[in-house]
Amino acid sequence: MKSDLVIVYHRQPYEEVETPDGIVYRENSSPNGIVPTLKGFLGRANRGAWVAWKEAKDTSNPGFEPVIEISDSFGTYDVSRLPLTREQVSSFYHVTSKEAFWPILHGFKERYNYDPVDWPTFRSVNWAFAEAAAEQATDDAVIWVHDYNLWLVPGYLRQLKPNATICFFHHTPFPGPDMFNVLPWRAEIVESLLTCDSVGFHIPRYAQNFAAVARSLTGARLIEDADAPLSLSTTGVALNDRVMPLTLEHKGNPVAIHTSPVGVNYDYIQSLARSPEIRARTAQIRAEMGDCKLCLSVSRTDYTKGNIEQLEAFERLLQRRPEMLGKVRLMLVSVGANRNMTAYAEVQERIETLAGRINGTYGSLEWQPVALISQAIPLAQLVAYYAASDFASITPLADGLNLVASEFCAARDPDHPGALVLSEFAGCAVLLEGAIPVNPFSHASMDAALDQVLAMSSEEAASRMQALQRSARTWDIGTWTRTEMAHFQKLRNARGATISTFPTQRPAA
Ligand code: UDP
Repeated sequence: MKSDLVIVYHRQPYEEVETPDGIVYRENSSPNGIVPTLKGFLGRANRGAWVAWKEAKDTSNPGFEPVIEISDSFGTYDVSRLPLTREQVSSFYHVTSKEAFWPILHGFKERYNYDPVDWPTFRSVNWAFAEAAAEQATDDAVIWVHDYNLWLVPGYLRQLKPNATICFFHHTPFPGPDMFNVLPWRAEIVESLLTCDSVGFHIPRYAQNFAAVARSLTGARLIEDADAPLSLSTTGVALNDRVMPLTLEHKGNPVAIHTSPVGVNYDYIQSLARSPEIRARTAQIRAEMGDCKLCLSVSRTDYTKGNIEQLEAFERLLQRRPEMLGKVRLMLVSVGANRNMTAYAEVQERIETLAGRINGTYGSLEWQPVALISQAIPLAQLVAYYAASDFASITPLADGLNLVASEFCAARDPDHPGALVLSEFAGCAVLLEGAIPVNPFSHASMDAALDQVLAMSSEEAASRMQALQRSARTWDIGTWTRTEMAHFQKLRNARGATISTFPTQRPAA
């Protein structure tokens, strides 16, 4: 049966677990995060499908059913598993996407590595994704493609499904032409994106950058823009933009430029933080800390995340203010997600060296200034640390949005408001009012932010946290879901799509 909503996302929408009784498809335990969020959309269509890759030694004889039907609390939907060899995954994902695209998207020209890119493989993997998606889709389906590793999929899909509503969403930053145009495949990528009905971004600045890139490479013209909502344009932060593009015209067709930040499951995180088990754990952590302040920083190990700069700022604090020795600790959760890649292994090594040096120089048996955690912490436990810490310091050099910052706000109790130091180069800085903005490229700014947060009165913290919670709730996952569904409906109406019942409400579980 064909689907009228097809989500194309590289990861499968469940955990595949081998048991003595065979393979079991286990639902993600937490409703927070991008996979469960996207799955929430499947139950809202008459019929939904998801396209992802799955490793196979021989793609013509993969040894598994390419398409399976899943029934879970999100409804019944199809999952099409595109068989790819380990070499194809390494080439299209680890090399082309992570070594060439990722540094450019985040503004790190010096890390961009062109040499190992095998462009024909990138094209053929994207073509295979497009074919798999087209097989699942009705002729006028909404086909929703996610992230830069699938940049060529829309152009191929448009050939296969000329009447489909094709939408693309970027979960990363999008740079301006001076940076993006470093990519030798720039015109091919942008031409593919401009075949979409809609190209989506988290914040107005990334949408503006895309419009500028499109104009620099093609004959596309901006035909409509609008003021950005005030709640999406915090004055003074580096990523702010007061205007956002709405429509480009390319080869006579309108292309919607859509700005809509993905949010966190605010209510779920708040309810976790208020549950008796997590409250008890939070109290236990606070008691163990005594009168020592806890600074929390959580991210993946990635040069974009600024963990090295974070540690250096903490080291300078201990150097500058000896009275803080024994009075503050940094818990740095830096989870290695791409251990097999040299660039990430190097960052991990530098983090370990720095943390070791700080502990060796300033620590004692009773007090270790840095707790470095390299293993992922389950969300419920993380929420206890969010709630127990005195402040969070989230200082990426570049970050599409950053969900951790909003999760931290959702977990806070008004009796212990806590504070948030937040990089101006995290996308969420334009929507989280009340944070202490910091420029991670400036020692002076990092040092001043630490001094400010350590001296902050509880009244100021309470009023800032109120504003932070209001913004995180305004832009939570419910807002994103409603905005995206309304956007699909509008695009479909513009195409005169025949199935008028899309979207239906999600059926009761
Ligand atoms: N996370 C987690 N355990 C950890 C570290 C992170 O569950 O030990 C989760 C965190 O709750 C958040 C996500 O990983 O939902 C990270 O999202 P974010 O947007 O901050 O960063 P990304 O890794 O997507 O760039």
